[in-house]
Amino acid sequence: MYTTSKEMLLKAQQGGYAVGAFNAENMEMIRAIIAAAEELKAPVMIQTTPGTVRYASLETFAAIVKAEAEKVSVPVCLHLDHGESYEMAVKAIQVGYSSVMIDGSKLSLEENIELSKRVADVGRACGVPVEAELGRVGGKEDDTESKDSAYTDPQEAKRFVEETGVDSLAIGIGTAHGVYKVKPVLNTQRISEVKEVVDVPLVLHGSSGLSDEDVRDCVKRGMCKVNFATELRQEYLKATRKLLNEDDTVIDPKKIGKVAMEAVKKQVEYRMKVCGCDGKA
Ligand SMILES: [Zn+2]
Repeated sequence: MYTTSKEMLLKAQQGGYAVGAFNAENMEMIRAIIAAAEELKAPVMIQTTPGTVRYASLETFAAIVKAEAEKVSVPVCLHLDHGESYEMAVKAIQVGYSSVMIDGSKLSLEENIELSKRVADVGRACGVPVEAELGRVGGKEDDTESKDSAYTDPQEAKRFVEETGVDSLAIGIGTAHGVYKVKPVLNTQRISEVKEVVDVPLVLHGSSGLSDEDVRDCVKRGMCKVNFATELRQEYLKATRKLLNEDDTVIDPKKIGKVAMEAVKKQVEYRMKVCGCDGKA
């Protein structure tokens, strides 16, 4: 069932668990994520970065996810991850994305508020929830890059949410995108502090490579959406490479797609259980 992220995130907030948000690069990953959600009876968010959108297009991803979502009973949402401009966020809403993020975290606080509010206004008028980011998630994911992480200031977060009217907020607590080269130092206390003064669902980025304990602690403290991207790519590639190394007679892309889907599905199911969203649809 194709839905927005509004209800699933509010339910997660009330229920004390998080919805898993999984980045997809192609049809195989989309089908694997939806298959995992259906099997575990979990609400799910599928998301695409600007780099992924440029690889195919917003229209193509919207069409595939809608077609696949209609085949299952669990709620499936398609979300624009790290929307990089007002134009891209609005275009995503126009072509049928059911949730968007506008990432103004590199801007000054005033500019971030202005941009996020403009997108939130359009989202509200169209019934599409909007996520914004305050503070910074470090590392690099496709075209999204930040040299360092910055912890979100709770009072700034309060003001940001009040003035922009966004539906959910990604905050910086020391995580980074991509592959961790050293163990990250997380300020999970900061989640509790922001949750004290902000009433919209909070979002955790840079979760690939975090331990189950870290993810559970973040969820317990108030993260309602947890993003996983890098580790799905790694599982996809590992399975593909293994098949091709073991059997150099493979000429059918479907055969490669099948093992890749199985690997991604397994990882998604594992992370859904860590987030506690299994059985919640
Ligand atoms: Zn992110």
